[in-house]
Order: sequence, then structure tokens, then C-alpha cells
Amino acid sequence: MAVQSMTNTPTRDIEATVEQISQLEQAGCEIIRVAVPDLESSQVLGRVKEKINIPLVADIHFSGKIAMESLKQGVDKLRINPGNFPQKELEGIIKLAQEKGVPIRVGVNAGSLEQEMLDKYGGATAEAMVESALKSVKTMEKYGFENLVIALKASDIHRTIKAYELLSEQVDYPLHLGITEAGTKFSGTIKSSIGMGYLLLQGIGDTMRISLSTDPVEEVRVAWEILKTLELREKGVQIISCPTCARASINVTELAPQVEEMLQDIKKPLKVAVMGCVVNGPGEAGEVDLGVVGAGKKAMIMRKGKDNRFIEKENILEELKKEAEDICRE
Ligand code: SF4
Repeated sequence: MAVQSMTNTPTRDIEATVEQISQLEQAGCEIIRVAVPDLESSQVLGRVKEKINIPLVADIHFSGKIAMESLKQGVDKLRINPGNFPQKELEGIIKLAQEKGVPIRVGVNAGSLEQEMLDKYGGATAEAMVESALKSVKTMEKYGFENLVIALKASDIHRTIKAYELLSEQVDYPLHLGITEAGTKFSGTIKSSIGMGYLLLQGIGDTMRISLSTDPVEEVRVAWEILKTLELREKGVQIISCPTCARASINVTELAPQVEEMLQDIKKPLKVAVMGCVVNGPGEAGEVDLGVVGAGKKAMIMRKGKDNRFIEKENILEELKKEAEDICRE
């Protein structure tokens, strides 16, 4: 499962686009998609690609000319809706993509489903989305093109889940997962986690993008948290922290986010517990790589469930950082 995101800079602004992609790469983005709304944007894709280290996907809506230029610029994947192109243009795009070995992502967004499907199914139902996607797939297959990825996007999880379940029973092509226009950082994270988590636990999906109305770096962080939580992939720090109660003798609500931020650049998988007291603390902290537990007037640092030692509370962050770096060096 690869983590994907999308830039929100004007693509023709090479500097801003490359800067955002670098930030996304740093956060763990593995495939980056850029919207290519005009010819000028397509003409800079080669220069953008030179400066980044992850595959570049060009998202094209209506122009065959822009799709062709993007392919000539060396993009790694195209995202198109075959129904939007006249036959001759589509043939040209497919031929060039084939020559260059570039995959094409086709798919459906419930918000822009063709009228024919809306009429047939009485709206943008999961079944309508699947039939529309299969229609695009058939169009591509007709030209002998099978280097495909399929996406089915809706902004509610019931429809999205049903559509992906139906489609995965009918095709073997890689599927790109997303709850489109999921919402703000808070609500969109919850919606995406439930929807994608449900699909991922069934083994459905090959790439994923979390769509949030915020900095795309957050999308990448959320995607990784979902994958780590489902134990599908490992990367960096995973925090275990208690909700605190009257027994807490360290301020977990302040400390846990500080620990998370302090250790966010660590790439090695590392579970870190921040627990308020010795009631549940040693049990939880003892099961992970590193933990801190409130212990009366002191704090207790636990490493791999042993080597417990007591430290002054004001030194918690410093001591955890040292221990985390030491574990990563091992
Ligand atoms: Fe309360 Fe201690 Fe449990 Fe935290 S670990 S919720 S402080 S009992």
C-alpha cells in the first residue's frame, strides 16, 4: 500500500511545487499527483520531476494536448477520464503511454458521474460508479491498454465502501483508495480512517490518498497513522498515551503531543508510551520500545520493558529524546 498525496500549489510555479513535494516526501509521501490545468503547467513537469525523488502523476481533465505534453515531459502516471476525450485524442494518449510504459489511472468521482449512469441508477449510487468505471476500463482494454489503476471516489463512506467491494470482485487491476472531499482535518480524518480502514482490513486497495481541506502534509501523516494502526506498514513513532485521570502525576495531555512532535523525524518504527501513573503505566510502557510513566514526585523511564530508572519530571523530554536516538542507533 503506497501513500499518495496531491499538491495544491499552481503547478506552473516550479519552485513552490517542488518545495511542497519535498515537504510531502519528508512526511512519507510515496507518489505525488499534480493537477495540470493548462499547457504551461504540463510544460514544466520535466523540470519538477528532475528535482523530486518520488513518482509524479499528472492529473488531466479535458485536454489531449496537455496529456500528450505531460507524457513527453516524462511523468510516471497519468490520471484521466477516458470519456472526456475524443476518440482520436484518446488513441494518441494511449499509444504514447504504451510506448513509454506509463500507467493510466481511470476512475470515477460520484460528483461528476455521466448523465447516462445517473439516469440508469437514479443517482450516483455505488452500482452506477462501478459501471461507469468498468466502462472506462473497457474503453482502455479495447485499445489493448491494461496498465491501469482504478479509483472510485465518493464523499461518504457507505457508497465508497460498497463501490470498492463491488469493483474488487470484478477486476484484478490495482485500486487507488480515497474518500474524496472528506472534509476538514478533524472530521475528514475520522471519515477517511473509518472508510479506508474498513477496506484495507479486507485487503482492498493498493495506493491511498487522504483528502483533507488542510496542508497536504497532514494527509500524508493521517495515511501513515492509518497504516500503522492497522499494522499494515511500519514507519516512525507511534504514540500510546493515556487519557489521564485524577491519579496522573505527569501532565500527559501536554506531554504526549510534545513527544510526538519531538520524535516526528524518526523513520525507524518506534512505539512510545506516555502514561500518567503507575496504575496502568508500567503495563503499557513495558510492552513498547520506550515509555515514560508518572511515578509520584518523579517520572519513570522504561526501555523495552526493563532498565527502569527514575528521573526528574522536568527532564522527561530530554531523556526520552536521548533514549529514542539510542534505540534507533542500535
Ligand atoms: Fe489514569 Fe493512570 Fe490510567 Fe492514566 S494510566 S488514565 S493516570 S489510571
